[in-house]
Amino acid sequence: MALKDLQEWLYGCTHCGTCKDVLNIFSPACPAGEKYQLESYFPSGKMLIARGVANGVLNLDDDDTRERIYACTGCLSCEQQCGVYHHQHIFETVQALRSEAVTQGNLNPAYMVMVESLKKDDNVFGKAKAERGDWAKDLKIKDAAKEKTDVVYHAGCMLSFDPELWEIPRSAIKLLEAAGIDAGIMGAEESCCGGRAYEIGYDGEFTKYAEHFIETFNSLGAGKVITSCSDGYSTFKKLYPKMNIEMKFDTLHTAEYLDVLIKDKKLKFTKKVPLKVTYHDPCHLGRHLGESGIYDSPRNVLKSIPGIELVEMERNRENAWCCGAGAGVSQANPDFALWTANERLKEAQSTGATALVTSCPWCVRNFRDAVKKYGENIEIYDIAEIACKAL
Ligand code: SF4
Ligand code: SF4
Repeated sequence: MALKDLQEWLYGCTHCGTCKDVLNIFSPACPAGEKYQLESYFPSGKMLIARGVANGVLNLDDDDTRERIYACTGCLSCEQQCGVYHHQHIFETVQALRSEAVTQGNLNPAYMVMVESLKKDDNVFGKAKAERGDWAKDLKIKDAAKEKTDVVYHAGCMLSFDPELWEIPRSAIKLLEAAGIDAGIMGAEESCCGGRAYEIGYDGEFTKYAEHFIETFNSLGAGKVITSCSDGYSTFKKLYPKMNIEMKFDTLHTAEYLDVLIKDKKLKFTKKVPLKVTYHDPCHLGRHLGESGIYDSPRNVLKSIPGIELVEMERNRENAWCCGAGAGVSQANPDFALWTANERLKEAQSTGATALVTSCPWCVRNFRDAVKKYGENIEIYDIAEIACKAL
């Protein structure tokens, strides 16, 4: 939504500071504010910036102003903690500021590669479109672009183009096979969901991808789209319905689908996985979905794996601290992204867990990079990788 259409919400913030901490436990909630320790990076500061831009007092050609609106992981923790009537529109306001910057031509140079790559190769990493299905090259999996399948597995950009993460979609496919599901992938014909373009302010690119995606998947005739990407999942569930195009398929996250398959007794775990783990709730699989946030399914899957002991971090479920990678931060501001991830790893280690499990490739990538940079002694897994070990 354009900034001018959000006027109603810009004056809602009372600057009470409640959003700085998780309610009742007083642990930090906003990665941007905590990292930079300046009011202008906290949600209340961002709302003031939005007012200033809307009133012409601040300009988006100012580097310091833009720095603050891009220093936001879109984690929605502020929206969770804030009790004022505008609370559901805080990140929408940040996104509107980013969109306004793009409209005015005040572009963030860090995103130019991403945007050019989207236009040329349908992905956010500057990789060749033809390489998109390489993660599944030696797998015997149906080509959903050529033959009808009950389920289409959507890998998304991160899992398609980061070979160090290929074990995640490969594990997901093995689990679907073990449960006897008729599944296929789109391979090189798959495209970006457009979610990242939306969050960094490229509304036009987002619309293009959303229309293409819905029309393509409607034409496939598959009843279900399964994805292991939390960003993609939240894009399908939260952003696509706003396009007002009928979606003839249901979308499930891998964690959600595994939970269903276990309950239906289609998927059985036989091997022990002796690990003490803690679970990190990805923002896009939790807070971004409001009351439909997926918190129980991944925990149910973990509890059904023999040998797993699940312990909780203090900030969990709706109050989880962000991994730091969201809303384009890992691409434009890696220092901020990795600092945020390491704060979470310290919290994970304090539980006594030797592994952190999550359900999003952006989280996995950022946590593994933070382990490399900061040296916390903890293993990082996606839920599909852990579940596959128990087959
Ligand atoms: S965003 Fe909400 S919680 Fe945060 S300072 Fe403003 S009114 Fe208070
Ligand atoms: S979305 Fe997250 S990083 Fe952005 S202002 Fe809110 S709490 Fe801070």
